[in-house]
Amino acid sequence: MSDCLFCKIIQGDIPSDKVYEDDDVFAFKDIHPKAPTHVLVIPKVHVPTLADMSDEAALGRLMHRVNHVANTVLQLEAGYRVVLNVREGGGQEVFHVHAHILGGKKLPF
Ligand code: AMP
Ligand code: ZN
Repeated sequence: MSDCLFCKIIQGDIPSDKVYEDDDVFAFKDIHPKAPTHVLVIPKVHVPTLADMSDEAALGRLMHRVNHVANTVLQLEAGYRVVLNVREGGGQEVFHVHAHILGGKKLPF
């Protein structure tokens, strides 16, 4: 989508600190980290929110890649948190679905 910030990051039109990319997802460091490690994993296909994702396989792929990035790329052996903010009420500010991976310290709930 042409006016989407995260689509522009995927296309390289806006710079990002990439940590992983494959055919399905792009992962990069959050510009305002809320933990020592804070990475966003986004599908390459533009979908505004998790609530708009109904395809079971696409949902599975996204979570599979979140696991891959957290475990293998970032090596967060001690553990991590995955957050998906959904729509305004859930605190979502960028309307291209993204999973936050937070780690590197003990996270209070
Ligand atoms: P959310 O509130 O779930 O929509 O999260 C959006 C996240 O995107 C926030 O944590 C922002 O810090 C992050 N963000 C916004 N712009 C950029 C950018 N250009 N590069 C990396 N992260 C960004
Ligand atoms: Zn987008």
